[in-house]
Amino acid sequence: MEKLLTIYRQQRQCLLKLILDHQPVSRGRLRQLSGIRLGTIGRVAENLLQEKLVQEHFQKKNRPGRRAGLLEIKPEGRFVLGVELTVHGLSGVLMNLLGEVVKSEEISFGAKAGREEILNSLKKLVTSLLSFSPEVCRAGLGFVDPGLVDFKQGVSLYSTILPSWKNVPIKKLLEETYHLPVVLSNSEQAKAMAERWFGQARGVDDFVFIEYGEGIACGIFARGQPVRGGQSIAGELGHTRIMGEAIRCRCGRQGCLEALCCWPVLRTLREKGDRKKLEQRLQYLAVTIGNLANILNPSLIILDRNFLSLGETEAESLIRAIKEEILPEERSLLEVTVSKLGPQIGALGGAASVLEELFATGFELKTLPVKAQEEA
Ligand SMILES: [Zn+2]
Repeated sequence: MEKLLTIYRQQRQCLLKLILDHQPVSRGRLRQLSGIRLGTIGRVAENLLQEKLVQEHFQKKNRPGRRAGLLEIKPEGRFVLGVELTVHGLSGVLMNLLGEVVKSEEISFGAKAGREEILNSLKKLVTSLLSFSPEVCRAGLGFVDPGLVDFKQGVSLYSTILPSWKNVPIKKLLEETYHLPVVLSNSEQAKAMAERWFGQARGVDDFVFIEYGEGIACGIFARGQPVRGGQSIAGELGHTRIMGEAIRCRCGRQGCLEALCCWPVLRTLREKGDRKKLEQRLQYLAVTIGNLANILNPSLIILDRNFLSLGETEAESLIRAIKEEILPEERSLLEVTVSKLGPQIGALGGAASVLEELFATGFELKTLPVKAQEEA
């Protein structure tokens, strides 16, 4: 019985994903795409229609007889939330299953905000987003953290830019308050996820998003899956070190890329008119991103929109310099571009991370059993 249930779940997950990618799609086409028997497709479709995850779209036929129904995801069948915490405050969105934002909200505070102030603001923001309509069916919340997170345990570990935000069991706190499944991500992974669902990485399986601002990090996708690493802290590009540079980093070590090249440092160099040092630091960025590309061989590198703060000419010369660091065999096939997603990219990524989990689990994403978390 258990085995049959597992097979059914796998078929349901597979069909939901195919409907999302090929909608509106007929049952016959789903059979061609999946190899699943028509009878099973009919049963799964019936359940998905009843659960309001899918809707049927009827096309007019010239011949008389039964009309052919095409299946598509029901946009307002479920809603998901995405909330990003940054050094400047909180940004949140509520979206439907097609990624259309129906409500967004922001709350500002500074880097000196304490843990209680952040948690109270978070509660205010989520409550306001959920007040959109009592009728909507909420399927999950994606929380995006500015620092290191323990993805499996759902704990915000620490952030070098928001010192009061340390060892916060954020997944448990939010799940207990709102009774919704919560997906925790760090900001670079969430922004890469936003690009994968709504941006330039749609349909691209191997790509890297380079986050740039107060910190520097990268979100990596390989073979269509996010790369989180053994302790879910992969992508700390800003803490790779530049030899011979003795400037102290917030992480406690010396010569980290972030300490030398983050936006506040380069902005100061620009204001001072120190062209020579500015060019050297841009070269450090190009070499590090080029090294990353040589290791991972992505087909696309998306640079954070914040790189445009350097100036358009500087951003263009950075892209050229990155390409020069890449093996010639790779260069012609690799695209380096700047993100087109706006300042809500982090919150969009939080919501996209929930959609990713929902479609991967066939909408059986549940809140973690609190007991299991306490024992861990
Ligand atoms: Zn560092």
